[in-house]
Amino acid sequence: MSIRYSVVVPVYNEELVIEESYRRLKAVMEQTGEAYELIFVNDGSRDKTEAMVSALCDRDACVRLLSFSRNFGHQIAITAGMEASSGQAVVVIDADLQDPPEVILEMIEKWKEGCDVVYGRRISRKGETAFKKLTAKIFYRLLKSLTNVEIPVDTGDFRLIDRKVCEVMNSLTEKNRYVRGLVSWVGFRQTEVLYHREERFAGETKYPLKKMLKFAVDGITTFSYKPLKLATYVGFLVSFLSFFYLLAVLYLKLFTDRAVSGWASTLSVSLIFNGVVLIMLGIIGEYIGRIYDETKNRPLYVIREKKGFNHEKS
Ligand code: UDP
Ligand code: MG
Repeated sequence: MSIRYSVVVPVYNEELVIEESYRRLKAVMEQTGEAYELIFVNDGSRDKTEAMVSALCDRDACVRLLSFSRNFGHQIAITAGMEASSGQAVVVIDADLQDPPEVILEMIEKWKEGCDVVYGRRISRKGETAFKKLTAKIFYRLLKSLTNVEIPVDTGDFRLIDRKVCEVMNSLTEKNRYVRGLVSWVGFRQTEVLYHREERFAGETKYPLKKMLKFAVDGITTFSYKPLKLATYVGFLVSFLSFFYLLAVLYLKLFTDRAVSGWASTLSVSLIFNGVVLIMLGIIGEYIGRIYDETKNRPLYVIREKKGFNHEKS
């Protein structure tokens, strides 16, 4: 029997939520009355996550385990799950139940009506810090203003995609993956379902500030080169202003008996612009680093163990 739905769940140190997550997902997927698979991608967890998923595999033929050799990151885990999936529709969902599995049924409805991508857009977010909500809000809007790709705001990776969209995404080879942007880039018929983001069922966020920053910079650099143009704009502005400043200094020197004096002003102007130049170099560095990642052409991830994937052929 061919698989109709694949559910991809990236998991990183989620021992506290895995059972409940499985239970809720299973309950929802059973309601479809069609064949499905639950692919848990273990992103190098250090706790009992892997053993727990492995036990689920033994118990339930719908469960698959894909285990990385180390932590490669959320976006890579999603990518691996999509590559390993075989369903006609692929759903990506976090393990922590912040995205209610019940919404999948709505997504399936829209898919059956002919949509190729159904993404979940958050109307509200519970249990997240004001800081996270604010930075997320600013980030999505900043990204929108920087890029020409229509990336919907307030949308995470919770979505359903059709097999053909999944195939296109699997064929993209870029290393610094910003999956939610890539889905938009691919196109096809896309629509949204609105939902309320719940609190994490248990445990803590696996996205500390450092990962969030890397994720944000990935999003911007892979979908826009406007930051690179900033150097040009600032350069022109500074040259323009300096020219008038020079005229003013010359005027004071030649036609009045006042001269501009003081090393403090020289030093502060020079420090400011050294700072600006270093920031610009840093921005260029972000892009060069990513070009370097692409040229090395290493695989996106390394798999240590695969379990449960042979059931589907029965
Ligand atoms: N995750 C992962 N690898 C990581 C970080 C997170 O696979 O390096 C998974 C995590 O287990 C969860 C999902 O990605 O299923 C989203 O993470 P989390 O809920 O911690 O992020 P938040 O909702 O706080 O942004
Ligand atoms: Mg979460």
